[in-house]
Amino acid sequence: MDYKKLAELLFPSNKYTTDEIEKMYPKRNLPEGAEVTRFAPSPTGFMHLGSFYQALIDYNIAKRSGGVFYLRIEDTDQKREISGASEIIMNVLSDYDFMPDEYELKGGVTVGNYGPYYQTERKEFYNAYAKKLVAEGKAFPCFCRKTEGLEDVQKKREKDFALGKTDDKDPCRNLTYEQIEQNLKDGKKFAIRLKSSGDGKEKIKFVDCVKGEIEILANSKDAILLKNDGLPTYHFAHAIDDTLMGTTTVVRGEEWLPSYPLHHELFDVLGFTRPKYIHTPVISKLNEKGNKRKLSKRKDPESDMRFYDKEGYPKQAVVEYLINLINSNFEIWRKNNPDADYRDFPFDGFKNTANTPLFDFVKLNDIAKEVISKLTAEQCYERLLGWARENSPGNVDYLVKEKDYVTKILNIDREKPKPRKDIYKWSMFFDLYDYMFSKPRTYEFDEQEGEKCEKVLKSYKEYLDLSSKDVWFEKIKEMSEKLGYAVSNSDYKKNPENYQGNVAKVCEFLRVAITGRKNSPDLYEIMTLLGEKETLNRISAIVG
Ligand code: GLU
Repeated sequence: MDYKKLAELLFPSNKYTTDEIEKMYPKRNLPEGAEVTRFAPSPTGFMHLGSFYQALIDYNIAKRSGGVFYLRIEDTDQKREISGASEIIMNVLSDYDFMPDEYELKGGVTVGNYGPYYQTERKEFYNAYAKKLVAEGKAFPCFCRKTEGLEDVQKKREKDFALGKTDDKDPCRNLTYEQIEQNLKDGKKFAIRLKSSGDGKEKIKFVDCVKGEIEILANSKDAILLKNDGLPTYHFAHAIDDTLMGTTTVVRGEEWLPSYPLHHELFDVLGFTRPKYIHTPVISKLNEKGNKRKLSKRKDPESDMRFYDKEGYPKQAVVEYLINLINSNFEIWRKNNPDADYRDFPFDGFKNTANTPLFDFVKLNDIAKEVISKLTAEQCYERLLGWARENSPGNVDYLVKEKDYVTKILNIDREKPKPRKDIYKWSMFFDLYDYMFSKPRTYEFDEQEGEKCEKVLKSYKEYLDLSSKDVWFEKIKEMSEKLGYAVSNSDYKKNPENYQGNVAKVCEFLRVAITGRKNSPDLYEIMTLLGEKETLNRISAIVG
């Protein structure tokens, strides 16, 4: 067969040859050791937490090596494309301050010389390489109807592959020139397939930068490179784009690992140098039965990056939580460098990137509490207001009007050596501090202590004195003594039977009466902010 003639027949009007394209994409001029990474999401309409996790790794590798981090939108699956989806991705990256060095805004600016950064705009490149492979006898057209349902075919092939049925050479590889010509005359659409040279037995080895050396069966399938809509499959685009755009390390989900052998063969037939790879695990969750399952877009709102904004999690907390999942050494590093920028943490060890990370709200919330505890009251107020403007407009007027009062609430037990660690997201503020805005609706009183409590509350009306914290507490102690409560805890511990309880118990009664809860921040500050009148009203509401 005259492959050159076949290539001309299939691609009569290509815009470029591969030589011309390669001249347009010279090697990047970067210092020794500089890494080029890319974040390559498909525009599905939301940014998955797991994708953002990959972007963090990309960013860190590029930045720490003095290299380049770029964004490429993989929009070749037009069925899945959702309009505005790439804006969502860009917004998350820019909100979190992980802006790529190179990117393109649809219908707008392009930053960087290695674009276009949308795959659908790179169609001519894929055509050029497809033509080249056909001309070299390394690829062939496939007219089977099944190429119309490409995804199904791919899935079936992957299944066969997993079952060890590896000799999946496509029958169309045997078509003659005349048959192909006739099919084209009949108006049949064609896909382009790789003419794999694999025998289904040979194994290849490669090193994943996190998982280590992996031995895997070499590719033997005549995989589709160009679909019959003229767009490339992920595999073909990966080899061409990552080569032309100069990627040195590919960070991608481990679901791509089974396709690696195909990529290995593709880089060979195309004459390209292979990049390094990091295959990241899927962020999972434990189900009710304690089994791991993937964080699902449908079932788990926390899989969507927008969730964290809506809930009002500090961005720093979300990032630090993910870094922790990538490398648990971060926790120690953070302890030793409490004020350092998380961008300075070296991911290099990838200590647990090889294991399945489990999503855990408790850990995320602890990190978020820590982050918020370090803010000043003024900073908290600004963040709370910022959150409300976007996500809870009904609260904005109140927050603006009562700036002073809200800031004072936020300042309770703050800006101290051991600041309070209670708030972890701004959406919880009004619930957590409901007692600062209205009388409690429920009380955590212990029923069996009703009588004792009533006595304390009744008597406190005469002891309430907010002139200073010391005076306030002296008065409570005075009352406690009078009512038979121990003022010193050690006295109480020695002879508990001599007392009604200790002064802490008295404070608990007062705290529950004022806040409804047994746990609250500093009670003196709360009473002072509420004022004497409201404090007395709350006590009266219980004991009349
Ligand atoms: N578009 C692919 C995905 O979203 C990218 C995989 C890769 O990073 O190579 O899964």
